[in-house]
Amino acid sequence: MTQGLDVSLAVSPPNLSDDLGTSTRAIPALGPLLDADAIQVRDLADRITFWNPGCEGLYGLPRGAALAQDAHALLETRFPTPIEEIKAQLLTEGRWEGEVTRTTADGTEVVVAARWALRRDASGAPVEILEIGRDITAARRAEENIRRSEYRFRNVFQAMAVSFWELDFSQLAVTLAELRAQGIKDLNAHIAQNPGFVREMMRQSQVVDVNEKSLQLFGGTREDLLGPVDRFWPRSSEAVFAASVVAAVTRQSHYEAEAKFRKLDGSEFDALFTCCYPREHLPRGATLVGIIDITDRLRAQDALQKAQAELAHAARVSTLGELTASIAHEVNQPLAAIVTNGEASLRWLGRTEPDLDEARAAIQRMIDEGQRASDIISRIRAMSTKSAPEMADVPVGATIEDVTPLVRRELARHDVVLRLALAPDLPVIRGDRVQLQQVLINLMVNAIQAMEQPGVSRRDLTVRAGVQDGAVLVEVVDTGPGVPAERAGQLFNAFYTTKATGMGMGLSICKSIVEAHGGRIWVDPAEGGGSAFRFTLPVPTTA
Ligand code: ADP
Repeated sequence: MTQGLDVSLAVSPPNLSDDLGTSTRAIPALGPLLDADAIQVRDLADRITFWNPGCEGLYGLPRGAALAQDAHALLETRFPTPIEEIKAQLLTEGRWEGEVTRTTADGTEVVVAARWALRRDASGAPVEILEIGRDITAARRAEENIRRSEYRFRNVFQAMAVSFWELDFSQLAVTLAELRAQGIKDLNAHIAQNPGFVREMMRQSQVVDVNEKSLQLFGGTREDLLGPVDRFWPRSSEAVFAASVVAAVTRQSHYEAEAKFRKLDGSEFDALFTCCYPREHLPRGATLVGIIDITDRLRAQDALQKAQAELAHAARVSTLGELTASIAHEVNQPLAAIVTNGEASLRWLGRTEPDLDEARAAIQRMIDEGQRASDIISRIRAMSTKSAPEMADVPVGATIEDVTPLVRRELARHDVVLRLALAPDLPVIRGDRVQLQQVLINLMVNAIQAMEQPGVSRRDLTVRAGVQDGAVLVEVVDTGPGVPAERAGQLFNAFYTTKATGMGMGLSICKSIVEAHGGRIWVDPAEGGGSAFRFTLPVPTTA
């Protein structure tokens, strides 16, 4: 349509200059259509001779106020090139096109896409200039905003002290869609059954852009970094990668976790990994990833934790010392009284005429003091035995899942890969959630520590849970050195430890917690080496 209009203007419709009274009369067929555009005609001295309703609307000036005025002065027109050049072009070529800026009656600036055509008389002498203009202010402003926000984005992308990657996962999206088409809806379960699938997903995710900081952090050129991401993800971080894909698939807006990354030279570092999935990027299979090196922060945190642990240990030792002193003091008094009264009663009985009443009174005091000592002992016992579990409904699956973030740091630090294999139908049991989590953490940390032993090449930790014979069976299986059969019974005794800094309390506490829940805990050798700590928790029979 614009094209058609252009042609009609170029050929200059008859009567246009002779009959400028109204636009509708000037160009009858195109009248209403042209009113949407701002059409003006000027003589060679730029005086306005025609002004249509489109012009009135755009510039806010009625026809009467515009006619006979110098158009460029009236509208404060600013041209992209000097007006002389424009006019020269108009004379030689008969037309000109460009963007001009003008000021409307109320003082606002508008950007107008203007097309000018020169009309000549029969002898070929120039007569007047016809302009068709279109308001493109809004479009220009939108373009400018986009340009600015792109500029800001590039600035942030390049200048931040964060490694940024733009990832293209369109290939992975196809694979995931195929899985869905095959009826595989639960990605987590699929990953649990096919651990190799995480690597496959990594190979299908490509780095398509990186910023300067990424080059420093990963130690390479831009070209080195572009391509599949699996090179940068050590095995111990596979779970984080998988979780980030699950987050995207389940339409979370972003995902954040700590993970280890591998530089191009093979060395690893701790990082905070963030991933955002802007809705407008997802359809084209793009996502933005940020990686912040937190090695120094973690080192400081570790030092702090170590100091805290040492402090807690020292506090425990001194508490034990203080307790022993006060127990000795408290119990010593009744013991001394018992001895004194015993001696006294012997004296009363040893007389030639034994004083039985006095002897009886002394013996009664011995009994009272004995009772006092016994009370003190039971008070101390009550203080040291743990409080009874607070029973509530505990969903077993969620309880196990909630523990994993608590040990994630420990896993990453020791390069251990965690695999959760939870049956989908895990029930809700009656128990103390915090105490049960304590059991799991104890078993998992023990497993991680066991796999630290020299000679352990594969460090896999599996937590499995299912229902068997009316009870939940939870298994914590490692690939460590395992437990010799002859020692399997002793592990659960208090103070049994083979660690230089161990307390030997962990498993004994686990045992008392599991038994207080009506369950049983034991250790078996795991298939292919390592140990499998297993415990049961009864499932309530009534729903
Ligand atoms: P601590 O960890 O302080 O030694 P625990 O009661 O938790 O106390 O563990 C007692 C002992 O049981 C440990 O010192 C270790 O010898 C053994 N043990 C526990 N878990 C494992 C395991 N997963 N593999 C091999 N040995 C283990």
